Amino acid sequence: MSDDLIERLAGLGESMTTLKLIGDLQDRIEAQAAELEDQSKQIASQMNVIYDISAEVQNLRELLAAAYIELSGKDGHASDCATSNAPAMTPGRCDCD
Ligand SMILES: [Zn+2]
Repeated sequence: MSDDLIERLAGLGESMTTLKLIGDLQDRIEAQAAELEDQSKQIASQMNVIYDISAEVQNLRELLAAAYIELSGKDGHASDCATSNAPAMTPGRCDCD
């Protein structure tokens, strides 16, 4: 075998090794992408649970505000009265001056 042929075969061997490494990297990247997609779906599902709980909390605050207004016996309340905190904050007993 000529030196030239040996050199060319060695070069071809290196190229094949490089191609194998690239293929391995592509496989790892695809596996990680699939894993990220699964995690993304789990997060979306958890976000839906959080939105549902948040909506429930808002409804409960509205009910609590209505109960505090009823308890106060007053017809009207100031906008800064604790009864008017729903749904952003937890309402409280009437503190109109
Ligand atoms: Zn009030």
